[in-house]
Amino acid sequence: MKRRKFIQSASLSGLGVAVGSSLVSGCNDKISQRETVIGASQKENFPIVIATWDVKDAVNKAGEVLMQGKSSIDAVELGCNVEELNANNQTVGLGGLPDRDGNVTLDACMMNKDGNYGAVVCMQNIAEAISVARKVMEDTPHCILAGKGAEKFALSKGFKKQNLLTDASKKAWEQWKIKSKYQPVINIENHDTIGMLAIDKNGDISGGCTTSGLAYKMAGRVGDSPIVGSGLFIDNEVGGATATGLGEEVLKTVGSFLIVELMRQGKTPQQACEEAIKRIVSKPNSNYKHFQVGYVAMNKKGETGYYSIHKGFSASIFKNGKSKNYPSQQFIK
Ligand code: ASP
Repeated sequence: MKRRKFIQSASLSGLGVAVGSSLVSGCNDKISQRETVIGASQKENFPIVIATWDVKDAVNKAGEVLMQGKSSIDAVELGCNVEELNANNQTVGLGGLPDRDGNVTLDACMMNKDGNYGAVVCMQNIAEAISVARKVMEDTPHCILAGKGAEKFALSKGFKKQNLLTDASKKAWEQWKIKSKYQPVINIENHDTIGMLAIDKNGDISGGCTTSGLAYKMAGRVGDSPIVGSGLFIDNEVGGATATGLGEEVLKTVGSFLIVELMRQGKTPQQACEEAIKRIVSKPNSNYKHFQVGYVAMNKKGETGYYSIHKGFSASIFKNGKSKNYPSQQFIK
């Protein structure tokens, strides 16, 4: 069978399975299951937003969008845009620190309440990577666009082309080149790579993750942030999770998917984040004393959790119309 045909027939048979199973389990079962998970009293607490690190302006923006009654996907996109366009934030979008060749390359993804996913990897010259990822999800038959293709697609959608390397980031890179030693910093205080999860007034969860990746990475390196199940995972029946820190370690344990599956099995978001960190640190020969990973999670009831390997990680939460930054507990006491 030709490849294209195979993909087509595979997706058609997938559709058959989906239709079949919803007939077997019955649509009403699904609705009532959902209703028991989100009680009316819990819905009163919605909307809620949680994001990695101290990103007050970003969660406030997302909260404001949700308070207007808009969807969680809109809130996450607009919230993340705040930091993508902030030239002083050197870990995301405009002003992000470059790779070792001096190019700012962005990774981002979004997942919506229907479990759809879109991402851009290693994209240059467009600041709003999260918005391009959303367009990949909504306007293309694909999940991931990379490099030049992602940029070309963004331009076709009307995004502005700009040089993302600010003077400050260029200076930092020139300074780094003197020794050219690649050593991801364990914990960057005021770190702002954003993983964000939001639950809207309807109780629907979406998420996004956007970053310029690790400073001075090899050209072409892609981290966990845009990869489904690693930097982000959403299952609207259960909850969502997102990650920050040394992406290679998150990728190798598929951390965000793991957290959502642990919540499905009954763990709280906090317990699930702690278990996912435990998976990393208990790997044979884990070098965890020398790198940071942090997770945030939210379940269908709007309960949240966050945990990291090292001290210094924090989560920003918007709830009851206000936002606050909370220092995280960590594995290394
Ligand atoms: N996880 C990101 C990456 O590895 C970076 C970060 O969150 O600090 O690209």
